Amino acid sequence: MSTYETVLLVAAVLVLIAAVLIRTVTHKRHPAKKCSRCGKPSSHGYPENGQAESDTILPVCVDCLLRQLDEDYSVFDGRAVVIQPVAEFSCYVFRPKEEWNEAVRNDTESILAGLETLCHICGQEARYAWVNALEPAPVAKVPRLGLRQTLLTQTGARPLALCARCTVRRIERSLRQQEGGYLQICGPRGKKDGLVCGMG
Ligand SMILES: [Zn+2]
Ligand SMILES: [Zn+2]
Repeated sequence: MSTYETVLLVAAVLVLIAAVLIRTVTHKRHPAKKCSRCGKPSSHGYPENGQAESDTILPVCVDCLLRQLDEDYSVFDGRAVVIQPVAEFSCYVFRPKEEWNEAVRNDTESILAGLETLCHICGQEARYAWVNALEPAPVAKVPRLGLRQTLLTQTGARPLALCARCTVRRIERSLRQQEGGYLQICGPRGKKDGLVCGMG
């Protein structure tokens, strides 16, 4: 082996070692997160206390998340407008109507005032007004403009009255079709009426 070949060989070995080292270091910095409940790979973040803006966000897999959402939506004592989750937002959370601007507050109140009493799908008590959303663009405008000027613009467009379980089933259908996950996702809490919407 000539000196030149030896140098090339040593260089190749060094590059290989460097590549392995870099990979180990970066891998340690970004460990694959595991579901805090079952240990499977996590895809979403659920706030520890179940409320938006919590300091601690726990990684959860989609199955554990849906079990938790089922409980949250069932236990919630108020009523809420729920906008279908669409991809491209980092959060999908509930906020009581007082925390939104006037446009959102007025729309939420008028939608809930006109909510039918029984679930459109199963006939149980309806406490949620489901609003379809297919594109992120109109949803992104909801916090500023409310719902009537963004998602319910067509004459006669009205949300669907749903019970807790049927609402979570619809959320599940959307979540399972999406690739990524939400950094923060949680259901309604407390007794105050409000809105669930994708944000961020
Ligand atoms: Zn899990
Ligand atoms: Zn139902």
